[in-house]
Amino acid sequence: MNKNLIVFCALFGLFWGGISFWWDMLQFANVHPNIPRVYNPISGFYEPKTEEIQELIEIEKIKNMDFYSDDSFQKFLDDNHPLSANYEAADIVKINSDFTSNRSSDFKLRKKAAEMFEGMARAFSNAFGFKAKLTINSARRSQKFQRQLASNCSVWRCAKPGTSEHEAGLALDLGVNWWNIKAWSGKYYQWLVDNAHKYWFHNSYQKWMEIDGKIVEPWHWRYVWVELATILHDEEQSFAEYFYENIEPKNL
Ligand SMILES: [Zn+2]
Repeated sequence: MNKNLIVFCALFGLFWGGISFWWDMLQFANVHPNIPRVYNPISGFYEPKTEEIQELIEIEKIKNMDFYSDDSFQKFLDDNHPLSANYEAADIVKINSDFTSNRSSDFKLRKKAAEMFEGMARAFSNAFGFKAKLTINSARRSQKFQRQLASNCSVWRCAKPGTSEHEAGLALDLGVNWWNIKAWSGKYYQWLVDNAHKYWFHNSYQKWMEIDGKIVEPWHWRYVWVELATILHDEEQSFAEYFYENIEPKNL
C-alpha cells in the first residue's frame, strides 16, 4: 500500500478519535454541568460521581494499601499486630530541617517520612509568620529503647515493644517552640489537624482508649502515605477506628 496513504489514514484516525472524544465530553458537560466527574477504576473513564463509583474508588484505594507488611507505610500496629521480631527499616535517615526549634538531625525517620516532615515543618512555620516552629521530642526508636520505655509505663501510654509506630520509623512526637502539643494548644494543633494529611501524616491516637487502645496523644503524628492520610482526614477517623471498621471488622 502507498506509504502516504497509510500515514494519512493514521493521522485521520487520530484526528477523528480526538474530535469524537471531545465532542462526547462537551455533550456530557452541557447535559450535566454541575455533576462532578470522577475516575471509575473499573471502566477506566471519568464518570458522574455516584455512590457506586465512590464505593469502587474506596475499594480500589484499600487494595493499594498494605496493612500487614513490616515495611508498608500503612502497617497497622497494636498488641495484635506487632512488627516481626527485631525488625529494623533499612531506609532510616536523619531528619534534615531548618524549620524545627531543636536540632532535627538528632532524630531519625524512614526516608520518605523524613522528607515529607521537612515540608510540613516549613509550612507550619510559614503559617505562623516564622514565629512558631515544630519541636521534635521523639522520632524513630529502637526496639531496645522501646523495651526500656515500656518497662516503666502503662500499656495505655507506651506501646509494648514491637508494636510502636516509633519502632517502625514512621512516627514523631511533636511540640511547638519546645512545648508539648496538647489538644488544647488551639491554633497549633488545629493547623496540624487541617494540614498534616497534605504531608501524609496522621494523628494516630485521638479518640481515647476504647477505640485507639491508647490515651489521647495530640503530639503523636505518624506517616501513612497519601491515600490513608486523605481518607482518615476526610472521614475524621483514627487509624485504629478505620482499620477495625473496614479491614478487620470486629463482631460487636
Ligand atoms: Zn509517640
